[in-house]
Amino acid sequence: MKLTEIGWNEFKALSLDEKRPYLEREEKDSLPYHTLFAQQFDRGVLERLCALANRIRFINKSREGALYLKSILAHKRAMLYFSQPSSRTFLSHLAACQILGVTTGSVRDAATSSEFKGESKEDSIRTFSSYFDMIIMRSPEQGLAEKMAWELSNSSRSIPIINAGSGKDQHPTQALLDIYTLVRSFENNGGLDGRTVVFCGDLLRGRTVRSLSYLLTRFKSVKQIFVAPDELQVPSDVTATLEENSVEFEISSDLKDAVKKADAVYMTRIQDEWDASKGASARIDTSAFKFNEEHLALLKKEGCLLHPLPRRDEISTSCDRDPRAMYWRQMRNGMWIRAALIAATFGYEREIMTCGY
Ligand code: ASP
Repeated sequence: MKLTEIGWNEFKALSLDEKRPYLEREEKDSLPYHTLFAQQFDRGVLERLCALANRIRFINKSREGALYLKSILAHKRAMLYFSQPSSRTFLSHLAACQILGVTTGSVRDAATSSEFKGESKEDSIRTFSSYFDMIIMRSPEQGLAEKMAWELSNSSRSIPIINAGSGKDQHPTQALLDIYTLVRSFENNGGLDGRTVVFCGDLLRGRTVRSLSYLLTRFKSVKQIFVAPDELQVPSDVTATLEENSVEFEISSDLKDAVKKADAVYMTRIQDEWDASKGASARIDTSAFKFNEEHLALLKKEGCLLHPLPRRDEISTSCDRDPRAMYWRQMRNGMWIRAALIAATFGYEREIMTCGY
């Protein structure tokens, strides 16, 4: 199945599962060509990407290894097209490209591109595709990455797109790094299957929650607990997906009780940039949804605390030095797993996995 064989409206109307085969590499090795949403990754692909990320970080330790990695994609160029604020996701994709020798260009503000002169996004993307071999894009617009992937696949220069965050909807590469962090956290004590993951904060508008919640369904018997004020509780499309996949979940407003049951706690920030009227979120009482040392005392010894960042006050800085605080490592893991995704997208998984380093 190819994106060239289906019209945009027909493709748009498909379910995410139905869309998935259209987004795979032509080589049919189950790896994505366009990375648009978390539903594209099944357990096998997740394990392959985690293994590839481990391999890349190991090879990169020696000078010879790092130089070898830098030669792998030295013939490729990537465009970072970020029309929404970002520091971590932008820099981590940039660093991932640098590890593999991919040269990069960027537009970080539509006001500095011809969109400001009235150019359509479709025309902008086609312009970028004339100069680059991959587009890594973040946009406030839900579904834009999907539309651009379809456009490019149906143009004379089909190049892959990686969605680095789309509106309130999805953030698939963040979910990959969250899974990679969880897999590494539990690799020496029984793995991720059978664990309990607590999500807390703005679960309604946090795109990282939707993407990670879905990826966790790829693991066996991972229970999910959603802790939030009523106004910001997890949306029904997420719980419907859990029901479809027979995943056990709880809706709660009691963070302490949830932390006692948790193997991992995933805190999130209030996403007030999406407020319908200015200051609407500030009127919600979120004081019971912040993690501090009292919560840390209730968390299992081998548990872990995650946050996609940026943090405001959802996690007290007094927790930062605890070995269970994973948010700094999460960022570094993001660079390695994104390098793995970029290498895999360009078809270099096997070469890296089997090289002599
Ligand atoms: N950095 C994450 C995102 O882009 C989380 C956040 O902004 O709160 O969605």
